[in-house]
Amino acid sequence: MTTIAITGAAGRMGQRLIALGKQSGDLQILAAIDRPDSDAIAKDAGEIAGIGKLGVLVTHDLKPTPQVLIDFTAPAATRHWIKTCRDRGIALVIGTTGLSASDHAIIDQAAADIAVLQAPNMSLGVNLLFKIAGQVAKMLGDDYDIEIVEGHHRFKKDAPSGTAMGIAEAILASTGKSKDALIFDRHGDDVVRKPGDIGMHALRIGDEIGRHTTYFAALGERLELTHVATNRDTFAHGALKAAKWLAGKPAGRYTVADVLGL
Ligand code: NAD
Repeated sequence: MTTIAITGAAGRMGQRLIALGKQSGDLQILAAIDRPDSDAIAKDAGEIAGIGKLGVLVTHDLKPTPQVLIDFTAPAATRHWIKTCRDRGIALVIGTTGLSASDHAIIDQAAADIAVLQAPNMSLGVNLLFKIAGQVAKMLGDDYDIEIVEGHHRFKKDAPSGTAMGIAEAILASTGKSKDALIFDRHGDDVVRKPGDIGMHALRIGDEIGRHTTYFAALGERLELTHVATNRDTFAHGALKAAKWLAGKPAGRYTVADVLGL
């Protein structure tokens, strides 16, 4: 039995983590945490998640010490929970996106003391896609134009999505390019694409859960790699699987690819 705490418990992801964590049978939810001013504070986390009483009330602080904390909140909150986990020796799964370079530096520092798994997308398919997109880009070379288009629901705060950035980073790493190759939201009257550019585009549409297409196009043909998330449970299952895998692991920074052995 792996003991866990969930931050962002009242959020879209937090609710599914609670519901599926309870269902899993080999996870024990010790704490469900949200903002101090959240309406969910002091309510039963199971009732917030729509699964009936769980016997865990939503709090704004972490009283018990779980083996793993799962964080799907926002970058400022994530920074706070990284510090808490580091101070108390708790392994950490970070699903929050929109992290800056300095947030990644803080994660690297924390990973000297605790096990941290951070992933912009916890789904199996997307993590496979990261690998495949890098390989395809390397095989096709600069003759093929690469553009990454992502679509998410109208409430999403950050853009482009962490997943789109994950695909881009996999392509940059496999082709030896720098982030200067990324062209965001192309507009204007002198924006002809240069060889090697990677265009990044974000759609914000209705209740779209998450859709990513990477185009590899030359004159005469186009290869498209598309991943569609049909509901949030794919991310929650991935994060819960990651938490079980991470419990008891030595300090270090891990990815979903490590969990899946990719
Ligand atoms: P949401 O806005 O529905 O939920 C976020 C929750 O975090 C809210 O309930 C909010 O009150 C809470 N929160 C804010 N500050 C907090 C704090 N200091 N302590 C505890 N809780 C706090 O958002 P969401 O759709 O659930 O997404 C959350 C994050 O996860 C976003 O960054 C999103 O992009 C990311 N996400 C990642 C994946 C993945 O697979 N990695 C998948 C989906 C969403």
